Amino acid sequence: MTSHRWLTALLVVSLLVGACASSAPTEPPGPGTADPTTPTSTAEPTPAGPPACADRPAPTPAGEAWWHDRVFYELFVRSFADSDGDGIGDLRGVIERLDYLNDGDPSTADDLGVTALWLMPVAASPSYHGYDVTDYRTIEPDYGTNQDFKALVAAARARGMEIVVDLVMNHSSIEHPWFTASAMGDPTYADWYLWADERPAVSGPAGRPVWHERDGRFYYGYFWEGMPDLDVSNAAVTAELDAIARFWVDELGAAGFRLDAARHLIEDGSKLENTPATFEWLQGFRSRLQAADPGALVLGEVWDATSVASRYVREGALDLTFDFGLASQMLSAVRFGDPASLAIVQEEVSTSYPADGYAAFLTNHDQDRVFDVLGQDIAAARQAATLLLSNPGIPFIYYGEELGLRGRKPDERIRTPLPWTAQEPGFGFTTGKPWQAVAGGVETANVATQTDDPASLLSWYRSLIALRTAHPALSGGQLIPLQASDPGVYAVLRTDDSTNEAVVVVSNLTDEPVADVTVSLADGPLCGSPDPTVLLSSAASLDVTPPLVTASGGLEAWPVGALGAHADLLIALRSGRP
Ligand code: CA
Repeated sequence: MTSHRWLTALLVVSLLVGACASSAPTEPPGPGTADPTTPTSTAEPTPAGPPACADRPAPTPAGEAWWHDRVFYELFVRSFADSDGDGIGDLRGVIERLDYLNDGDPSTADDLGVTALWLMPVAASPSYHGYDVTDYRTIEPDYGTNQDFKALVAAARARGMEIVVDLVMNHSSIEHPWFTASAMGDPTYADWYLWADERPAVSGPAGRPVWHERDGRFYYGYFWEGMPDLDVSNAAVTAELDAIARFWVDELGAAGFRLDAARHLIEDGSKLENTPATFEWLQGFRSRLQAADPGALVLGEVWDATSVASRYVREGALDLTFDFGLASQMLSAVRFGDPASLAIVQEEVSTSYPADGYAAFLTNHDQDRVFDVLGQDIAAARQAATLLLSNPGIPFIYYGEELGLRGRKPDERIRTPLPWTAQEPGFGFTTGKPWQAVAGGVETANVATQTDDPASLLSWYRSLIALRTAHPALSGGQLIPLQASDPGVYAVLRTDDSTNEAVVVVSNLTDEPVADVTVSLADGPLCGSPDPTVLLSSAASLDVTPPLVTASGGLEAWPVGALGAHADLLIALRSGRP
């Protein structure tokens, strides 16, 4: 399964002709009896033909939030690029490397093409990861200055990218002056944290202690004794957090936030997550922020079941949450050749969230990296990207995923420096010594090696992102499962009314090639006699015959050819609706 055997092709869709406007000879014969509920075209009186596109509902105008069609990149500043040789990534380093992410020129194909960044914490912190903040209004000195952050926002925006930052409101660092003052009984800060004279009989998952001793008293810190939980139910704390959020948007130019540990904000006795008070607090935070700064994204980490995570969006507590169940199911589908389980989860997700209400991803900074989860198999890694970037949720790519960066826990090893070259000792990341050793496999998992190789994982990511950005069906369209002739084949239709376009995604999730694959749809939104255009393929053949649309807008068994192990095929169908 060497990469040169894969045929990778990206065809520009420039000559799509609406099939309904084309002449009759290309019209396929009707499959059977006409559906009496389906209007038939007066121009094409064949009773059993496909629905006429002119009779379909008019497109609904788009009025979505700015993030609805974006592709996000989760970026760990410490590990992205170092500008000054101290071995630590910094904001100036990110600015210098922005063209890798998006060069701002839609006509080039040698940038990744992401359209938004999520920066892991960039506020001052004593830890390498930054999730324990000591100053919410100042950039971590290792990373630069507030001026550097503003410069980054401006440079990113010039390339069409917005920047969202991690905001850690559940807890601060134990070294934050607020906590020091609170521990000393300073009347201003005494009740900014949760204190008890006796240790409450409450513990976290697996009996983990959550109440910690300090000078004969006890404070609550859910994750770690070095991260005391702020009492966000205190009005003074809420006012300060509101002001901090406004500062990042109004003064520094952030486009919104990823709220760390959003489900843990307010406890109720032994109930430590998803309390009614947490929902209510987030609803207030979001509405106050967006009243002042319309369009500020409030994305939250709710590491919980879809039924729980989606409630935050349905009830207006958050704009988006990450769906962890879908993420693990996408990877499982590729690992175990199991499209059926993925279809069940996609259905649950699509019925649980409002439109554009969740963020899709494969893994993040808290999880083993995709490439290792998938057994360091490049075809499987490519396919996981296909599932992610052809799925309706707003996609997030964890930095390095596009290169097949390896990494298993501990956490430092899943957050290693991005190798820009294979050249020791700095790997293009730094002129000095990287703060953390690079991951194994650097001889191939680096930008320089992959950037000009059309068969590389990086090239595949670039193609998928470009397609998603160019085709609203892939970003905002409905997802309709198709029936594939083989149980190991994943097949879906993404549709979009505003462009009269559908995209069919077919993936062989197994390790074995399959021949003569067909995909079908009983009833669907298709019309006319669409011409297929292969958008992207790692399959053996690009020769796809026009599909036969049924009288009920579905697909007759449509042959899409042979699919090698973990091969993907993306095909556009232009319905020609007026
Ligand atoms: Ca540096």
